[in-house]
Amino acid sequence: MLIDTYGRVATDLRVSLTDRCNLRCTYCMPEEGLQWLAKPDLLTDDEIVRLIRIAVTELGIEEVRFTGGEPLLRPGLVSIVERCAALEPRPKMSLTTNGIGLKRTAKALKAAGLDRVNVSLDTLRPDVFKTLTRRDRHRDVLEGLEAARDAGLTPVKVNTVLMPGLNDDEAPDLLAWAVENDYELRFIEQMPLDAQHGWKRDGMITAGDILASLRTRFDLTEEGSERRGSAPAERWVVDGGPHRVGVIASVTRPFCAACDRTRLTADGQVRTCLFAREETDLRAALRAAPEDAAKGSDAAADAEIARVWRLAMWGKKAGSGLDDPTFLQPDRPMSAIGG
Ligand code: SF4
Repeated sequence: MLIDTYGRVATDLRVSLTDRCNLRCTYCMPEEGLQWLAKPDLLTDDEIVRLIRIAVTELGIEEVRFTGGEPLLRPGLVSIVERCAALEPRPKMSLTTNGIGLKRTAKALKAAGLDRVNVSLDTLRPDVFKTLTRRDRHRDVLEGLEAARDAGLTPVKVNTVLMPGLNDDEAPDLLAWAVENDYELRFIEQMPLDAQHGWKRDGMITAGDILASLRTRFDLTEEGSERRGSAPAERWVVDGGPHRVGVIASVTRPFCAACDRTRLTADGQVRTCLFAREETDLRAALRAAPEDAAKGSDAAADAEIARVWRLAMWGKKAGSGLDDPTFLQPDRPMSAIGG
């Protein structure tokens, strides 16, 4: 298993399938986009499935979350999900997406074995969406959400980042909309992972701000840590239930002591933490002993990859280090790490 020196065991694997995205969210990347990862450096579908197979069959991974950039831009996504659904034991699988293209793919993803989705949506106002994402695709995201719910990719979770002066007045409206549409809303504190390195602690909307805003219209009862486990979101029961609302407060209320996550980048690097500044390469080991279509993959090579992955996680730091005055933002931006 993937254990670290603090006794935490990683059972939740986040896999970034691409660093590319079809939105340009202001808190993530500049308008012109970024220098994308070179194609030869990107893992192939076979390499991704092989690493997930090793993680599930040799390292105790129980959950796989496909992320990006925007994972719906990965041409082989449905087939990757299908092949992972055939693994024994079968991992639970989810997807973090901006929702663009979900209307077209929701049914196929469900049929392939995907269990549920997290869709990013920061506003109910198309004009604010256009300002925040620099794209006029608000309708596409709403239709993607409906298609995911109708396809049974449930619970459909909605991830929202509030930005001062843009959508920070929308928290109660967003919750009312989520309750009405049976989506589970989670507010995420903005994190210092933007490519522009423009994040300022005193410029972000905190969990406290969000809860105060919600309480102007809703009665919120804390769900309690016993139900939370290692989940990033603290949850509140809305108006006595059944709906919940979540807040992921990585900055003001870190939850690292119970972290069960390990990450794989689209170019084959293990990241022990969202904020890690070091990475461990698995791609070289993969390509040193490529899988043979007839004979399958080399068990010794797979065992070596598992050993390197275990070693990387053993060295996982206690937490994000965000409260440390020496904290340095990772070089790799969020768009190439994934949620
Ligand atoms: S900041 Fe790092 S250690 Fe903390 S919960 Fe997130 S991934 Fe885990």
